[in-house]
This record gives sequence, C-alpha cells and structure tokens, in this order.
Amino acid sequence: FLPHLVASMEQVEETYIMVKPDGVQRGLVGEIISRFEKKGFKLIGLKLFQCPKDLAEEHYKDLNSKPFFPKLIEYITSGPVVCMAWEGAGVVASARKLIGSTDPLQAEPGTIRGDLAVQTGRNVVHGSDSPENGKREIGLWFKEGELCQWTPAQAQWLRE
Ligand code: UDP
Ligand code: MG
Repeated sequence: FLPHLVASMEQVEETYIMVKPDGVQRGLVGEIISRFEKKGFKLIGLKLFQCPKDLAEEHYKDLNSKPFFPKLIEYITSGPVVCMAWEGAGVVASARKLIGSTDPLQAEPGTIRGDLAVQTGRNVVHGSDSPENGKREIGLWFKEGELCQWTPAQAQWLRE
C-alpha cells in the first residue's frame, strides 16, 4: 500500500448538473456555474437547451409513479435549461452537497438551493445522485462530440 499514490488513484467521476428553467428565467445561470467552477471541478460540457418531453420523462423515469411526476415534466420542459457535465474525483457527492437538500427550505445556507430557492417544485438545479447516474444522464443529455477533454491550466494548483 503506497499512500502517496492514493490521490492519483482516486476515481475520476462525472456528474450531470442542470440549471432548471426557473434558474434560467431568474438570471441565476452565471451564479450556479460559478459555484462549481470556483470549487475546482472541470467543466467538460455546457449548453442551453429546450428539453423535449420524452427526454424529461426518460431522465426522471425512476419518479414516474410519483404524484408530482406530471408537474415535474411540465416544469423541466417549461423553458430552456442549461446542461452541464463536470468531472473530478468525488464530484458526484460533492456537487450534491453544493446543491443542498431537495426542499430548499431544508437546504443549508451556503448551498445553491439554500441560498437561491424556496420550494421543492422550483429548486433551480439538478445534480446526479450516483456516478452510474452521472454517466447515464450525461449520455442522455449530450451527443458525442459535445464533450471536451482538456487540461485546465490551474490543475497543478488544485491537487498536489
Ligand atoms: N420534486 C417535486 N416534489 C417532490 C419531490 C421532488 O416536485 O415532492 C421534484 C424536484 O424538482 C426534485 C425533482 O423532482 O429536484 C427530483 O426529485 P429527487 O427526489 O430526485 O430530488 P433531487 O435529486 O433533485 O434533490
Ligand atoms: Mg434526484
């Protein structure tokens, strides 16, 4: 076991983050992107997109038996969203912490939902809940050729 190798062996993950239509309409796109950018994760995909109903239904298929499902689909397709793919070790769980609890009134101050939203049905942002779903969702929302692999200039100042 070689402790100095642990950092380089950390599993690089990808997560799908989306500014929902309320976040776009309320002018929060820059603020939300900024939280992930400043943290030090790597942006590998970004676009403004009007989501069709079938994609919204596929994205949220695990929730399709919930009573709020029809309103959720209506919400997500009600205007353009900003689709993002972010990469980094531990990015999936860390992004969920930056986003905060599903119910913005329960979300801690300092989190995106805690600072910028008041209701579950208008909680401004989505983040994948597992590395598997991160991959699945990036595959749903981005086409091949829309993701960029690049080396940020700050990489050596973020990780030892
Ligand atoms: N949602 C809702 N009512 C609920 C629960 C969820 O409108 O009672 C919406 C809300 O926009 C939430 C999304 O459905 O963000 C997905 O729900 P999930 O439990 O996956 O929450 P998340 O992972 O977004 O925190
Ligand atoms: Mg979820």
